[in-house]
Amino acid sequence: MYPLLSEDRARLAQLLRDVLDIATDHLDVLDHRPAWQPPVTPDLQFLPGKGGGTPEALSRFITDWAPAFSGSAGPRYLGFVTGGTTPASLAADWLTSVYDQNAGGSTGSSAAALERQTIAWLRELFGLSDVHTGVFVTGSTMSNVTGLAVAREWLGQQHDVSVSEEGVAALGSVTLLSGAPHSSIAKAASILGLGRASLRRLPLLPGNREAVDVTALTVELESLRGRPAIVVANAGTVDTVDFDDLEAIAALKERYNFWLHIDAAFGAFAALLPSHAHLRAGLDQGDSLSIDLHKWLNVPYDSAVLFTRRQDLQLKVFHNASPYLGMPALPDPDFMHLTPETSRRLRALTAWFSLAAYGREGHAEVVARNTALAEQLGDKIMGTPHLRLLAPVRLNVVCFTLADNPTTEKIQATAQAVAATGEAFITPTHYQGTPALRAAFSNWRTSQADMERAFTAISSATAPRDGSAPEPGV
Ligand SMILES: *Cc1c(COP(=O)(O)O)cnc(C)c1O
Repeated sequence: MYPLLSEDRARLAQLLRDVLDIATDHLDVLDHRPAWQPPVTPDLQFLPGKGGGTPEALSRFITDWAPAFSGSAGPRYLGFVTGGTTPASLAADWLTSVYDQNAGGSTGSSAAALERQTIAWLRELFGLSDVHTGVFVTGSTMSNVTGLAVAREWLGQQHDVSVSEEGVAALGSVTLLSGAPHSSIAKAASILGLGRASLRRLPLLPGNREAVDVTALTVELESLRGRPAIVVANAGTVDTVDFDDLEAIAALKERYNFWLHIDAAFGAFAALLPSHAHLRAGLDQGDSLSIDLHKWLNVPYDSAVLFTRRQDLQLKVFHNASPYLGMPALPDPDFMHLTPETSRRLRALTAWFSLAAYGREGHAEVVARNTALAEQLGDKIMGTPHLRLLAPVRLNVVCFTLADNPTTEKIQATAQAVAATGEAFITPTHYQGTPALRAAFSNWRTSQADMERAFTAISSATAPRDGSAPEPGV
C-alpha cells in the first residue's frame, strides 16, 4: 500500500476528529460569516506528484480555499434559491460517503430500497398519489431533462416511432409550450435534441403575473390540429413565484393530446403550508414533475427528484441492460434503468435523514418562516420611498427595484454593493423588462433578525445620497 495511504488509514479516527473540529468551527460562526466573498481565480498549478497525506491536504484547503468560500449555506445568502443544510442532512451526507453505496442497482445493496422509501415519503409530503414513481437526480435541471426525455418518448409513441430506438430525427419537429419556463427547460430541449427553438413561449396573464394565459395555451393547442405536444407548466417562477393554473391546464388534456411536465423545483413546497396549498393544486396531474430538494428541503447539493406517471416509457429511455448489470425487473426496475446515471450516489440519504429527524412539521415550519420573512421584507420595501416592490410576495421571493430609473448598471452595482458589505447576498434579474433585484428565502437558519440585517444592507446600499438621485456605492 502507498505509504501515505497506509498512514492515513492508521490515523483515520484522528483525521475525522480534525475534520469534525473544522466543521464545527465553521458552522458555529456560519450565522455571522460574510454572506459573500469575492470569487478567487484558481492557480492552475502542478498536480502533486507524491501528495502530502490528508493532514497536508487539509491544511492546504484551510489556507487556500476555505476562506474564499461564501456563506452560501448561511442565513442571509438570499441569492438564486439556495437553501442550506439541516443538521440531520449534514450528518447523512457524511454517512453517505462512509457507507459509499451504489444506488444504481438493488442486487448488491439495500441502498435502492432506502431510496424507494424516501420517494414514498416525498410523495406524501407533496400530496402526490401513488400513480407517480420517483427517482433521485442531481438537481431540477437534470430532473427536467429526465422528465422531458420521457415526454419525448411519449411523443414518439404518438407518432408510432420509438425515439429511444430510432433517434430524435424520427420525431420531426416538436412543439414545446410554456408561459414563463425556467432557463433549464431550453437547456433540456438542447440536450435532448429537441432544440431550443422548439420552445414556444406563450402569453402570460395580464397585470403583474408570470402565469401562463390558459386561453392562449388553448388557442395554441387548437392550432396543432391534433398533433401531440409537450406543455411545461410552471409551479413557482424564480422572480415572483407565480404559479400556472395547473388544474385548468390539466383539464385541457380531455380535449388535446399533450404531455404535461410540471417544473415545481421549489414551488412544490407550497404544499406544506395550508395557507398556500391551493397554489399547487393539480400537481398530481402532471405526467412528469421536477422538485428540487437541495433548495427548500435544505439538504446539501446535489439532490432533486423526478416523478412520472409513465415509468414504462422512462424505462425505454434509460434502460441499461447488460448481462453483468442485470436486466430491468418489473415492477421496480433498478434505478440505473430509470436515470441518466448508471452508478449512483445514495443521494436519498440526506432527504431520508432530514425527514426522519424533523418530519412534515419541521419542514413546514421552515417553509412557513421563510415565507413570513419574505412577506415582511416585501412590506419593508414597500414602505421605503427609494425602493419599489415589483410584484406581490406570493411565497418566498421578493422582487423589487430602485424607484428612480433602475438601469441594469445601477442594479448590478447595487447587488455588488450589498454583497460587499457581507451582510446579505441578493441577485439581479429582469422582471417584465425592468432591471430588478430578488431576495429569495429558503434557508432553515434565517431568522427575523437576519431579514432585518438584510433589509438594512439593501436599504443603505440604495439610499439616495444628499437628496440627489440614488447612487449605489461600489
Ligand atoms: C432552480 C430551478 C431549476 C434548476 O434547478 P437546479 O437544481 O439548479 O438544476 C429549474 N427550475 C426552477 C423553477 C428552479 O427554481
